[in-house]
Amino acid sequence: MAIVTPRERRSQIAKGDVVIYLDNNATTQPLPEVQEAMAQAQRELYGNPSSIHQFGQVARHCVEIARAQVARLIGASPKEIVFTSGGTESINLAIRGALRVHPGRRRIVTTAVEHSAVLRVVERLAGEAFDVQYVGVDREGRINETELESKLTADTALVSLLHANNETGVIWDVKHLAELAAKNGAMIHIDAVQSAGKIPIDVSQWPAHMVSLSAHKFHGPKGAGALYVRRRTRIEPQIVGGSQESELRGGTENVEGIIGMGIASEIATNECHGVAQKVGTLRDALEQGILSAIPNTHVQGAAAPRIYNTSNVSFGGLQADAVLMVLSEAGICASAGAACSSGSLEPSHVLKAMNLDDAVAHGAVRFSLSRFNTRTEIDDLIRDLPAILEPLTELARRASQSSGR
Ligand code: PLP
Repeated sequence: MAIVTPRERRSQIAKGDVVIYLDNNATTQPLPEVQEAMAQAQRELYGNPSSIHQFGQVARHCVEIARAQVARLIGASPKEIVFTSGGTESINLAIRGALRVHPGRRRIVTTAVEHSAVLRVVERLAGEAFDVQYVGVDREGRINETELESKLTADTALVSLLHANNETGVIWDVKHLAELAAKNGAMIHIDAVQSAGKIPIDVSQWPAHMVSLSAHKFHGPKGAGALYVRRRTRIEPQIVGGSQESELRGGTENVEGIIGMGIASEIATNECHGVAQKVGTLRDALEQGILSAIPNTHVQGAAAPRIYNTSNVSFGGLQADAVLMVLSEAGICASAGAACSSGSLEPSHVLKAMNLDDAVAHGAVRFSLSRFNTRTEIDDLIRDLPAILEPLTELARRASQSSGR
């Protein structure tokens, strides 16, 4: 890969053939099979699944096939799958919907490193007189189990835990954690948005009541997700209207999105072992290559179990937003674990909770891979990275010289 100039990049983007896409935890490219099935559904399956006539019933049949495909992906029964508009809606439904189960209980236990889809909901609940407790993590992003146990009381209504962290990829043993959390009879929700479709999940072995999934994280469409609701769990719908989705989510179904999610689930079920091996090898090569080519680099969560596609690398002495900009100019898409607010770089809540040194947190960049990445892309990136970063390393060197004067 020759370094791409801004003008070349713009013309490549216009032609649709950019880039080395390493931002798959943000979203993934839909599989060709998903695209085809959705296009066909849009053309031919426009009946309403609630309609009695034959045309509606064909759409209903396709929705039920997709429900079985999603259920199989996570070891659930089709009756336990509620289709939603994505991870955020599933999480809102799980957390708010589960609070009716123990109406007298006021405590919610979650962690400091959840996705904002969880954090913003529980913050609102704190404003509604719920006692929200956040469990911390260590410097590798591993949950503090002792703290989790100490926060679980007889008053705990709900425990919400992440499976794989979207920023660092650190995976928790949610089966074990849910077993701990189950002792007080609390409702348990697992945010599996970054793990479902990437690693095998068997919810029948987890003592969890609810598990959130999102199709666009595993090569399905955006705007389609699901909540697993364990049999005989009575949660309260948050979108009311029609009686769709067993009265847990009103509104005419997003039939093509659901079909796309079903196809993506089936392919993930059948292929995730092979994909994990391929992508894991590429991720490890990328990490090793960066660590040996660029001084002062560090991988967050490297000592913890991590999902195979994610690497959160800090470029010591550099600012993540500047790194992302020069990467983007060179046609490489990644994300930051730090965001610029009011002119200063604010590390993400995840990196803050991991108690990383400021210099490490400020330079943290997330690379997240998928089945579509190739060895050539990774080799090219490693080869060109020193030259891509050169303007920034030069600036950092001059800044440190002048401050030392
Ligand atoms: N939970 C996690 C861990 C995520 O990474 C995301 C999205 O990045 C979400 C929830 C929200 O999912 P969605 O984009 O489908 O609303």
